[in-house]
Amino acid sequence: MSETKDSGDRRRKASVNKHGGKKNTKMCGECGLTIKDSDKAVSCDVCEVWFHIECEKLPEKVNNFMQDEEAEGVLMWYCSHCKKGCAKLHKYIKIIEQQQVEQMTRQNELEGKVNQQRIYSTRT
Ligand SMILES: [Zn+2]
Ligand SMILES: [Zn+2]
Repeated sequence: MSETKDSGDRRRKASVNKHGGKKNTKMCGECGLTIKDSDKAVSCDVCEVWFHIECEKLPEKVNNFMQDEEAEGVLMWYCSHCKKGCAKLHKYIKIIEQQQVEQMTRQNELEGKVNQQRIYSTRT
């Protein structure tokens, strides 16, 4: 029984959990309480802080999926604090993208005008 319980935690922090169980006391970054082995918790892929899934309002379905071996290295999870930072970054990227699109459309417009002029000049 205990084997299956441990494997989930050991996967991510193998080096920490190797020696004894006492050193790997994890604190929840949200409520500040110790995360027990029996607690369901996730670690943020950015700040590497652990959180109770209840504290981060993470659906158990998502958590179960993340514990899947196949999800390892593929699925990233960010805590709400890092998500905020990412949101800012995404906003910034979107602004840049928008500017690029605007520039491209302007360029297209200019090219279109040039082409039109060419058509006119060849016709007349
Ligand atoms: Zn908590
Ligand atoms: Zn984080």
